[in-house]
Amino acid sequence: MKKIIITIDGYSSCGKSTLAKELAKELNYVFLDSGAMYRAITLYFLRNHIDWNDKDAVVEALQNISMEFMYNRETNACEMFLNDENVEWLIRDMLVAENVSEVAAVREVREFAVAQQRKMGNGKGIVMDGRDIGTTVFPKAELKIFLTADPSVRVERRFKELYERNPNITIDEVKANLEMRDYIDSNREFSPLRQAKDAIVLDNSNLTAKEQLKTALKLAKEKIQDLTTAAAN
Ligand code: C5P
Repeated sequence: MKKIIITIDGYSSCGKSTLAKELAKELNYVFLDSGAMYRAITLYFLRNHIDWNDKDAVVEALQNISMEFMYNRETNACEMFLNDENVEWLIRDMLVAENVSEVAAVREVREFAVAQQRKMGNGKGIVMDGRDIGTTVFPKAELKIFLTADPSVRVERRFKELYERNPNITIDEVKANLEMRDYIDSNREFSPLRQAKDAIVLDNSNLTAKEQLKTALKLAKEKIQDLTTAAAN
C-alpha cells in the first residue's frame, strides 16, 4: 500500500491531536504534534529569558535548541524532548499557552520548526496536526483535514483538560486564552492559520471521538487505495 502524508489543521482545542494520534495508530503511521514544537521553543525562551521580539537573540537561542519526539509505550504517544529533557507535561502549562502564539508568529521560529517538520515527513506515513501543515509545511499532502468545532464545545473540552492539573482555573481564563491564540494564529504575517483550498472540513461538535475517527479513517483508506491502484496501473 502507498504511504501518504495526512495533515490535520484547525483552531485551538478542536481535538486535532486526539484524532491525529488515533488515526496514526490505526494506519500504523507516525503521529507528530507540531504544536508541541512551538510550545517547547516557548518554554525554552521563557526559562532563558529570551526576548522573542529581538531577532538576534532569537536566532542565537534557536541554535541551542534540539527537539525530539520519543515514543512512550505506556501512554502510547510521542513525547516532546527539549535538549534531552522530557517536557511533555511542562509544555501544556498555562504560562506556555499564554505566550506560545506570540512566539509562533516570529518568522525565524517558524522557519526553524517548519524545516524540522518537513524532514520528519520525508518518509511519508505520517499524520501531523497543527495550523499551517496543509498550507505551508506539506502543501502537497495527499489528504488534508480541517477540523472544526463550536467555540463553546472547544472551551469546555480544554477546560476539562486544564482543570485536572489546576483546579483553580476558570472557564473565562480558558475562553480568553483560546480566543487570543486563534486571533494571533489567524492574523499573523507568516503562515497564518487558514483552511487549505483542498482540505476536507470535518466538524466534530456533535461527534464522539470514535465517530470522528471512523470518518477520517474512511477518508484515509479511500485515498490510500486510490493512490495504490493508480500507481499499479
Ligand atoms: O496545537 P497546540 O494548541 O498545542 O499549539 C500551540 C500553539 O502553537 C498554537 O496556538 C499556535 O500558536 C502554534 N502553532 C502554530 N503552527 C502549528 C502548530 C501550532 O503556529 N503548525
